[in-house]
Formats: sequence, C-alpha cells, structure tokens
Amino acid sequence: MKTRPTYLFGSLLMLSLLFIGCKEQTESTEEDTSTKEIQPKIVDLSHEYSRETIYWVTAKEFELDTVFEGHTEKGYYYSANNFTTAEHGGTHIDAPIHFAEGRQAVNEIPLEKLIGDAIKIDVSARASNNPDYEVSIEDFTNWETKEQTTIPDGSIVLLYTGYSKFYPDKLKYLGTDQRGEEAVKLLHFPGLSPAAADWLVKNRNINAIGLDTPSIDYGQSQNFESHVILLSENIPAFENLTNLEGLPSQGFEVIALPMKIKGGSGAPLRIIALVKE
Ligand SMILES: [Zn+2]
Repeated sequence: MKTRPTYLFGSLLMLSLLFIGCKEQTESTEEDTSTKEIQPKIVDLSHEYSRETIYWVTAKEFELDTVFEGHTEKGYYYSANNFTTAEHGGTHIDAPIHFAEGRQAVNEIPLEKLIGDAIKIDVSARASNNPDYEVSIEDFTNWETKEQTTIPDGSIVLLYTGYSKFYPDKLKYLGTDQRGEEAVKLLHFPGLSPAAADWLVKNRNINAIGLDTPSIDYGQSQNFESHVILLSENIPAFENLTNLEGLPSQGFEVIALPMKIKGGSGAPLRIIALVKE
C-alpha cells in the first residue's frame, strides 16, 4: 500500500513535467510571459587581458606564457598557461590601501560595497574634446536635477567619459605611447576633480566609484588627491571600464568581483552590470 501513492504521485509529477515541457517548447501564451520573471540584460564592463592591455606607464604589462597546448601522449587535449600582471592594469580595482595607509586591502573590501544599485553620470559631451577634463561637483548636481533625486545612499557611481572607445590605442587613451617614469608627465585623460571627490565623501554616501579611463585622478594629476580622498574613506575605485554607453543613468545593478589577493593594493576585476529591460 505504501508504494501505490508514491507511484501515483510520481506519475502525476512526470505528467506535469512533460506537460510543462511541451508547453514551453510549443507555445508561449500571455499567461507564461506575465508569470515569468524578466531576466536582466548582462553588460560586460571589463576589457580583456592580453598583450594589448593598457597598464600604468610604469607598471609591468600582462604576459601569458604557454605551459602546454595540444594533444598529450595519453590522447587527451590539454591547455594551460602562466600569467603575470601588475595589480593596476586593464580593468582593475584600486583597494583603499593603494593610497591610504591602514585601510582595506583588496581581500578585505566587504562584498556589499562591490555588488548593488548603480548610477551613471554621463560627462562624455564635456570630456570628449578635452583629455584634461575633470568631473566636477556640477556634473553630480546636474545629474541629481535631471533625475530628480539625490545620489542614492549605497550607490556604485560610474563616470562615463567616452574614452573607452580609444582603448587600446595608447596615444589616444593615455595621451602617450611612451613608457617609464618620464612618460608620467605626458599622460592626458579625464578623471574626477579632487573638489568633486571631496563633495561626494562629505555630502553623499556612495559605496564605490568607477570610470572608463586609466585612473580616477585625471592624467595631469601630480598628487592623486581624488585617490587619497576616496580611498581614505574606504571607497574603492574601478578603472579602465568599458561599455558604459549601454547603461541607463540609473536603475541597474553592478557586480564587481576582483581577484582576492591577500594584502593586494588592487587587482584585476571582472565587472558586469545587470540592466532591467
Ligand atoms: Zn589602479
């Protein structure tokens, strides 16, 4: 007697599954779409790591060395590489400790700061003709006026300058294709002004910030003040982002997961946005 109800239930379950399976394959009714959860669009905000990856002019560039690639003596195919990289190159995160002694290293940044609601500040019209452009307080207050809200608490703030369209052309993206200490003064690309960084930490409560240029301070910065201001408040920065043009000004989420380097001042970063369509 015990087996029969189980058998019946099992059969009913099988039938239901078959029915659902057929329904999904053969027809899409209005009922289906209304009960189905809408899947967000995934936008990849990361550049690839390769020989072309842009690094700070004094940093060691990316290398990928083949350990083995091909068919082994035992018959199976096998591929493996070694890679080397500086922390600060390509799409990466600046951990607070990068410019603020005693602050969080990359493995210590709470994941709550790296995953959550995001906004985009579009400064591309102002920055496109000015590689020395610094995002201003006005850019933030203009966004707030237009969007009829203050920058929400806990936001991940993305600054869209439009410079990722030059990547990986070093001359256009960095302002120079030279490398080494001498090249630092030749850097020209937009960043966040120290006044705006100061305004953000004193007047708003953001979780993280990112942009589509090599550094949160503009290319001509000497003392990296915006780095110091933000990182001192444990606000990490994402640099060398891409595909920001495809994002709305608000109403999307960001997931930014760096390599978990113990004690790291930064790390390669895979960052994506989830956009409701
Ligand atoms: Zn960095």
